[in-house]
Amino acid sequence: MSQKIIIVGAGLTGSLLAIYLARRGFQVDIYERRPDMRKVAISAGKSINLALSTRGIHALEQVGLAEKILQDAIPMKGRLIHPISGNTSFQPYSIQANEYINSISRRTLNVNLMDEAEKFPSVKFFFNHRCTGMNLENGAAYFIDESTGNTLTASGDTVIGTDGSASAIRMEMLKSGFFNFSQTYENYGYKELTIPASSNGGFRIEKNALHIWPRGSYMMIALPNAEGDFTCTLFMPHHQSERNLSQLKTEQDVVRFFQEVMPDACQHMPTLVEDFFNNPTGNLLTVKCFPWHVKGKVLLMGDAAHAIVPFFGQGMNCCFEDCYYFDQLMDDFGDDWAQIFEAFGNLRKENTDAIADLAVENFVEMRDLVAQKDFILKKQAEAILEEQYAGAFISKYAMVTFHRLPYATALKRGRTQDKVLMEICGKISTIEDFNPAAAMEKIRMEWEKLGQ
Ligand SMILES: Cc1cc2nc3c(=O)[nH]c(=O)nc-3n(C[C@H](O)[C@H](O)[C@H](O)COP(=O)(O)OP(=O)(O)OC[C@H]3O[C@@H](n4cnc5c(N)ncnc54)[C@H](O)[C@@H]3O)c2cc1C
Repeated sequence: MSQKIIIVGAGLTGSLLAIYLARRGFQVDIYERRPDMRKVAISAGKSINLALSTRGIHALEQVGLAEKILQDAIPMKGRLIHPISGNTSFQPYSIQANEYINSISRRTLNVNLMDEAEKFPSVKFFFNHRCTGMNLENGAAYFIDESTGNTLTASGDTVIGTDGSASAIRMEMLKSGFFNFSQTYENYGYKELTIPASSNGGFRIEKNALHIWPRGSYMMIALPNAEGDFTCTLFMPHHQSERNLSQLKTEQDVVRFFQEVMPDACQHMPTLVEDFFNNPTGNLLTVKCFPWHVKGKVLLMGDAAHAIVPFFGQGMNCCFEDCYYFDQLMDDFGDDWAQIFEAFGNLRKENTDAIADLAVENFVEMRDLVAQKDFILKKQAEAILEEQYAGAFISKYAMVTFHRLPYATALKRGRTQDKVLMEICGKISTIEDFNPAAAMEKIRMEWEKLGQ
């Protein structure tokens, strides 16, 4: 009889993990708090669309799903910056034609993953089942069936908690002691808004770009959807800033604000007021915790173990990378869960901490730096170095987004490079003054100091 694994949470991580486990012959029972989104019209959660990049694609490739998922994706080849003046500029993500990020629908992705998991007779989904806790000693997990009110206990050989940033499984581990935990909220909320498709179904603004309206302490971004519309996300302080969400109380406040600071977007947002007041305000937080497992009886994975802010577009990509590395460890340790879980935490923790920090740093870059002269010069300098020193120099953004280097390496090397290049670019006024050989030598010296 094959072993049974209980997964709590059928979001992106839980659904992909179920496929990886089923391919190895395990029985998987996956319990999800929400109804089945394939049958009931519910929000797919957090954000309508997501940027999928190399790490996520690689993990999907291993289970033969990348091609299918990418069919519905829209390539975004760079950032399209919208200043208040309206003179937009395009900042390519890479000089390589095949290096871009992909806008995908969260719902379509989750549905595809669930459909694929369900093709295995050994995978069973239990929707409307909310986990209320578990016994960490014997691995029994407790649920309430929200459609009937009945309670039940599920037991298997082990439990994996993929129940997101407010994980009930993690809460149980927190109560048990010997568990380090921190959660850090940003003083920022986010609001999803829409630029609908034009009357002929086309895109009203450039389709193949991630649009940014950087405004210093706040910003709006927009990602394209396959239906011709864009999902815009306004990120703004809740309070304590010259511009903040608490100031936007009435229809007039909202319209006046958008007309003043994002006039080119506002003209394409006929449902702005409805969207603003009907859509919830989301919060942004970073969760760090450790150890992620208890004696082989339970493991945290995905956002449950390491929720991050969305500014590097890596949360899901990192979670999918979790699934890939977890699968690799099953090659080494079979079904010795205690060993797999221990090795998994040791392998991933440093890297998930690194991407959490990179994501916070990238917020400053997106909402402020992208519009500044030194930063624009730095991007141009990076492109020159990537071309002249191909293979030797990779920008921080590319290391994170288009490569599968450990995040911790990307953080160390990337910060060093950024520091050197920002210093150089602060002293020049045009890119013609940039000396690639001198810059590369300086970067190499700094890498050596790091032992890289
Ligand atoms: C605004 C925003 C934009 C983002 N954009 C990107 C992006 O562009 N690219 C990217 O890579 N990442 C992005 N992310 C991050 C990404 O959304 C997460 O990393 C990803 O959703 C994590 O997947 P998960 O399955 O671990 O958690 P979740 O997606 O949170 O899924 C958890 C699942 O568990 C279920 N659940 C919760 N509690 C219980 C319970 N008690 N019992 C049973 N089930 C439960 C939930 O209903 C849900 O289905 C973004 C996040 C936000 C907030």
